[in-house]
Amino acid sequence: MAEKIENVVIIGSGPSAWTAAIYSARANLEPLVFEGAITEENRLAGTLPLGQLALTTEVENFPGFPAGDLEAYFDSAIAPERRQLMAPHHKEGVSGPELMELMRQQAVNFGTRIITDDVVDLDVATRPFVVRTLEGAVHQARAVIIATGARANYLGLPSEERFKNRGVSACAVCDGALPRFRNKPLVVVGGGDSAVEEADYLTKFASVVYMVHRRDQLRASKIMAQRAMSNPKINICWNTTLDEVLGNDTDGVTGVRLKSTVGQPDVELQASGVFLAIGHTPNTKFLEGKLALNEKKYLVLSRPGRTYTSVEGVFAAGDVADDYYRQAITAAGTGCMAALDAERWLAAQGHETSAARPERRRGPRHWRRRETSL
Ligand code: NAP
Repeated sequence: MAEKIENVVIIGSGPSAWTAAIYSARANLEPLVFEGAITEENRLAGTLPLGQLALTTEVENFPGFPAGDLEAYFDSAIAPERRQLMAPHHKEGVSGPELMELMRQQAVNFGTRIITDDVVDLDVATRPFVVRTLEGAVHQARAVIIATGARANYLGLPSEERFKNRGVSACAVCDGALPRFRNKPLVVVGGGDSAVEEADYLTKFASVVYMVHRRDQLRASKIMAQRAMSNPKINICWNTTLDEVLGNDTDGVTGVRLKSTVGQPDVELQASGVFLAIGHTPNTKFLEGKLALNEKKYLVLSRPGRTYTSVEGVFAAGDVADDYYRQAITAAGTGCMAALDAERWLAAQGHETSAARPERRRGPRHWRRRETSL
């Protein structure tokens, strides 16, 4: 077991985790972040370090990072004499992976320490809390912030499982550019914002994208729904569900069988890829029986407007406790709240740590490359 008792351990590596790290590092709490392990299992589950934003493309709705012509934004937003410190270095918005790398670096610059490993067990019955990792390390912490996020769901069909990695995926951005999908018909299952985003992205590669949705109306926001309906390469199959992924051992996925939800005959379509975009499951398996979870396995917050979980000293931030908003900006906001809650709770316990604020560092002097590819 590591001798040092950490003030705050943060588990996760999405916007909530990095924001919690930035705030707790600036409060001199010297946070230790477990950003997740780089394993094939995590790649397949979509739980590699940097979270779900690392699996997206351009980010259009994170305040401060407008997409499009940044020069024009600066011209309209900031008077020329105030621009010298804020000259834009590039002309486009930020991508999800870039935004995550920037947040991570910002946390590192304030002294955050990072371990690239999964937390597999959190003992909340002892004080300090005990954190055990996949690689077998054991750490102690006075306070813990859970920011493990959520991961994409699958339907649970045997054929879906059989063809994972051979045409079935839950991440268009990760897999869409693979040669097997080029100029071929592809299928996206779901009718929410994620499904539209995936379908839209896949039209860069596919000959046609079929969106398979079980109702006659998309759940996606108006602007996203409009994007899907106006894209000539997206063909929406209303009132249908994916009944089976068709394929063989040589070619992988070759098509799908769709079932009607309104009594129409089954349909078979040729397709070389199937992308699932049917919602998410929170990453709370290692917390079952330790912290209160709701029926959908999301962490339950014990007080409205606070990030307290059912165990004092353990806080929650981001999608792991939010099945409603699930936005990068709300995750970042609750990451800030969790760090402040943890700081105040530690102070109330007599751990006064924020006397000297760490030096602010402008450049990436603490830049440390992390190998993310498998
Ligand atoms: P979501 O909004 O929950 O949508 C899930 C979709 O999958 C729904 O259309 C649902 O159908 C369908 N579905 C669920 N279970 C199914 C099943 N067993 N079989 C067939 N279809 C099934 O999830 P999401 O699209 O991942 O979005 C999650 C949150 O992230 C939302 O708040 C969304 O706004 C946000 N988000 C935003 C953006 C963006 O702004 N660019 C991008 C991605 C996600 P029903 O409609 O019939 O329930």
